[in-house]
Amino acid sequence: MMGPSHALSGATAWLAGTWALDHFAGYEQSPLAVAVGTLVCAGGALLPDLDLSGKVTRNQGGATVARTFGVFSLFVAEVIEKVSLGIYTATRLSRDPRRTNGHRTFTHTLPFAGLLGWGTTALAGHFGKWAVVGIVFFTAGLALRGLFDKWAERAGWFIVTLCSAVIAWFTAANLPGDRGYPMLGFAVAVGCVVHLFGDIITSAGVPILWPVPTGRRLWRMVGVPNGMAIKVGGKVETVVLRTAMVVISLVAIAGIFAPGLLQRFEDLISTSSTVAMKENI
Ligand SMILES: [Zn+2]
Repeated sequence: MMGPSHALSGATAWLAGTWALDHFAGYEQSPLAVAVGTLVCAGGALLPDLDLSGKVTRNQGGATVARTFGVFSLFVAEVIEKVSLGIYTATRLSRDPRRTNGHRTFTHTLPFAGLLGWGTTALAGHFGKWAVVGIVFFTAGLALRGLFDKWAERAGWFIVTLCSAVIAWFTAANLPGDRGYPMLGFAVAVGCVVHLFGDIITSAGVPILWPVPTGRRLWRMVGVPNGMAIKVGGKVETVVLRTAMVVISLVAIAGIFAPGLLQRFEDLISTSSTVAMKENI
């Protein structure tokens, strides 16, 4: 998946989950908490591709992250890729192939998602509002570039950075600490996990089972068979998948903030399907 699709999948997952929690468990969140969670999850869904040091100049996953913080993130990506490769080489079993590049290894595992989520929450819990400012600034910057890539390119880095700063400041000033801070780490972790599923349907797969060994392999790449995989950047991804995700997000937003509207939408579907059924008879 390309960066924008990953970001969108994070936002969609968070909105759908928020709606489900509200609808089935009665867990309500303020509009600000929903907005921040969505941005942080969308930004988090770009983080696993910080290991894409080789392709940062191309318009692929890593590029979104790379464009965000220029040379600095290029360097960070290089370091993360090498560290991931180190972890791979140190833990690989006899059947795992030798690798020279760390892309889609450690940052594409569930323990990484958990670690990042835990680290984010620990940071926010320990340093309070200032950590929240930093975390939201960083992830919102990523999310804006991922979700609104065309706008971000036109607006330029200064405007995007300014917007991220305003969002971060507004969040820290208004988000209550009791419920808000653990949510940040959870949103980052959910974003990472959603990223893994995005890669599973579009590629040779990710080592989602790591560190559980299977058949003398620790780094088994799990993905859909080649014939079924969705082509990265192809029409199915950029048109069908993205449209579906936007629709799901909008329905979820309507469900969260205007349940009456969703009810009318459901009625509309059920009446139209009864009409269709009658016509079929
Ligand atoms: Zn990836």
